[in-house]
Amino acid sequence: MRWENLTAETRHDRPADAALFGADTVTTRTFDTPEFAGITFHEIHARSILNRVPGASRMPFEWTVNPYRGCTHACVYCFARRTHSYLDLDTGIGFDTQIVVKVNAPELLRRRLASPRWHGEHVAMGTNVDCYQRAEGRYRLMPGILSALRDRANPFSVLTKGTLILRDLDLLRQSAEVTEVGVSVSVGFTDPELWRTVEPGAPAPQRRLDVVRTLTDHGIECGVLMAPVIPFLGDEPAQLRATVRAIAVAGATSVTPLALHLRPGAREWFMAWLGQHHPALVRRYERLYADGAYAPKWYQRRITRQVHELAAEFGMGPARGETPRRIRRPAPAEEPAAPGPTQLTLL
Ligand code: SF4
Repeated sequence: MRWENLTAETRHDRPADAALFGADTVTTRTFDTPEFAGITFHEIHARSILNRVPGASRMPFEWTVNPYRGCTHACVYCFARRTHSYLDLDTGIGFDTQIVVKVNAPELLRRRLASPRWHGEHVAMGTNVDCYQRAEGRYRLMPGILSALRDRANPFSVLTKGTLILRDLDLLRQSAEVTEVGVSVSVGFTDPELWRTVEPGAPAPQRRLDVVRTLTDHGIECGVLMAPVIPFLGDEPAQLRATVRAIAVAGATSVTPLALHLRPGAREWFMAWLGQHHPALVRRYERLYADGAYAPKWYQRRITRQVHELAAEFGMGPARGETPRRIRRPAPAEEPAAPGPTQLTLL
């Protein structure tokens, strides 16, 4: 089905918002389709697309590309919520429904990668908000972004909860033939009830694991970021076992657990949700996160140990830190560009 046939849209330009959005003009659209009911898109021509991660960051990468801001996956715990406040947008429901789209992201990136000042550093995607959220089905920015990276043989990684990544399977395979590519899927738990309330806009965990299986079956090895492990709701031994088992069955090459963290912006929204859905847990959370955004070290260590033991039991290799798994281009002796799945080698 074509969007054009389904969509009735409204549009208006609001130059007054432009400075906040880092653009000269903002075009605001809504679409009268069930998939985008209640969602407003702010289309901008961004002035920059490669973002340097601040030196103090805990992240294991230096450069990111984020074609969207806000995320319709609407995870209650999303740490990126606070970034919406920089745009003068609401960090709660506004983060889930007011989506900024950098419609010129592919062209901008292609130009930037060609600059003599760019030295081909690793580019991470899906690190702020999900680049394969539902909006990507409409705006199709990722094929242009992946093509630009492929054409410059620029290493990159993608982290997502979106099943839409399978649309770009061929581009991922082509890229992996010329550079290092890492793909990780985020699945913190498999409990369907927990998913429906805490990740209401994201594909179901099993559908994400199906993505892992499909990628693996097509020669793209895929790790799972088991995040977040949610205290008292998703961290029972039986829940951890079921999740790690499902991840192993899906063919993931590694599993990296990460306990829930609650930074400002996310914390208020999550705690309001907790009070509504699990009021008896509010005091326990206040105690567990009394010292800040992160669960205590003892808790993080316990989860990591449990998950690693289960991973070993189910035959998965040890996780290699928090970086997405990388894929090395095929050895020269292998068939170049033969039809069918490309055989890739993990670093
Ligand atoms: S998918 Fe990722 S970016 Fe989107 S709401 Fe969930 S945690 Fe946030």
